[in-house]
Amino acid sequence: MPNRTFAIIKPDAVNSGYTGKIYDRILQADFKILSAKLMRMTLAQAEGFYLVHKERPFYGELTTFMSSGACMVLALEKENAVSAWRETIGATNPEDAAEGTIRKDFATSLGENAVHGSDTDENAEKEIAFFFTESELICNQ
Ligand code: ADP
Ligand code: MG
Repeated sequence: MPNRTFAIIKPDAVNSGYTGKIYDRILQADFKILSAKLMRMTLAQAEGFYLVHKERPFYGELTTFMSSGACMVLALEKENAVSAWRETIGATNPEDAAEGTIRKDFATSLGENAVHGSDTDENAEKEIAFFFTESELICNQ
């Protein structure tokens, strides 16, 4: 049974005009897009979304960056969606990302690394619910 993951095309990538190219990578990797929206997070939303990193030294930098401009949030579906999407995006630090991954091709730094991907099925469901209502996940109905 396919399951779901949550993705963000981060402000650096949207601002650099990579939204369409990253959308293509999502479709080429056979993810079904259940929902997608362009939005700009408030600082409070970014702080809530990344609450798990609250104690990390980069929390302020990360939440300021994530609320600095437009991003695209997406709910994706595929067999083993969480690990499949993390493979498609590559390592957190683009310098360590494998050839052909999104972060290798579009990220500029460890902080501004083009895309987000959930790390577990449980977090994927929480993250999808943070930005989407069930009725917005139109392909799932
Ligand atoms: P991932 O996004 O690969 O799951 P993490 O959950 O560890 O990575 O971190 C969340 C995000 O925080 C990263 O994608 C990146 O934007 C930022 N980040 C992580 N580590 C650092 C760091 N040392 N300095 C600055 N930003 C960081
Ligand atoms: Mg993470």
